[in-house]
Amino acid sequence: MIVLCTRIVQMCIAKSTFRMHNKDGAIAPASIYASVWVIPAMTQDSEAESPNPYGIMERLADLHVHSLASDGALTPFQIVEAAFRKGLAAVAIADHDTTLGIDEAIGAGNQFGVEVVPAIEISAIHGDRTEVHVLGYFIDHRSPVLQEALEVLQIARWERGRRMVERLNEAGVRVSFDRVAQIAAGGAIGRPHVARALCEVGAASSMDSAFGKFLQEGGVGYVPRHKVSPHEAIGMIKASGGVACCAHPVKLKNEALLVEMVEMGLRAIEVYHPDHSPATSRYYRRFAEKRGLIITGGSDAHCFPNDIRPGIGDIAVHYEAVEELRNASALGPASNEDKPSFPRTRESTFVMDDD
Ligand SMILES: [Zn+2]
Ligand SMILES: [Zn+2]
Repeated sequence: MIVLCTRIVQMCIAKSTFRMHNKDGAIAPASIYASVWVIPAMTQDSEAESPNPYGIMERLADLHVHSLASDGALTPFQIVEAAFRKGLAAVAIADHDTTLGIDEAIGAGNQFGVEVVPAIEISAIHGDRTEVHVLGYFIDHRSPVLQEALEVLQIARWERGRRMVERLNEAGVRVSFDRVAQIAAGGAIGRPHVARALCEVGAASSMDSAFGKFLQEGGVGYVPRHKVSPHEAIGMIKASGGVACCAHPVKLKNEALLVEMVEMGLRAIEVYHPDHSPATSRYYRRFAEKRGLIITGGSDAHCFPNDIRPGIGDIAVHYEAVEELRNASALGPASNEDKPSFPRTRESTFVMDDD
């Protein structure tokens, strides 16, 4: 019951964050991209036996989830299991600068009947300081060209983690790099791992305060990241046969840069994201439509306990987005036999409409 209440509170927060409308029991919108579905959260102890426990009519996909392979809290297997319980048709494992979680997720996908989109989220920097996150969908995650480039990023992340800890130690904050590496569990080291170590030793009371006190630019533990340009990030994704997509474009606040990225080969844009208000999503949807970009969306879930941000499947797009991404990738259109079959059932009761 406590779990249920907690989830209800979380969903209420999510609802107010996204200004979600319940459209009088609305069924599928006229345009497949007119809306994004928000699925009611499930309790953790639910005994759902089959996909689509809430009777969602459309097949849905959460195209942005982080696993333990980068800075998420769940294993790739657990993510796919959660996607199954949520009734999703597909989920994209999009870890920061690593593809280490993809094989495990694909294995779990075969077991649960959930399609796993092999993906990545590459952290790039434009100019001196503008962070640009580039998602890559349907990448060949075993491509040697991609893996070589990612190895450089992994080493740089490892070194950066070491330097952050050194700087904190010099300032009298006792965190150990071994613990940070342990928290990262062999995945790509990032500031969230250092922040968790800071919380453990009592130097910060929460992840937010760890960032605010130590890890933001100007903080004693801050070390700038190895720089990859958006051009290089898009190039890495294209070289591995994938489709490049701008993640949470609202963080860029730079339409000229987005236009440049389209010229560099960007083919998709993440219109639906927890940081996007309905007006923001509307803005980027128009941007996408004007330039013929594929519209994507996802929860960007990291799934830490007590996380009030959306969980897996709380933001999802229609499965057609997956087909469009696959068609635009080096894989090309899938044959009918390759397509996973999922039952279509009753309509959803929740829909977020950004019109
Ligand atoms: Zn991001
Ligand atoms: Zn992300």
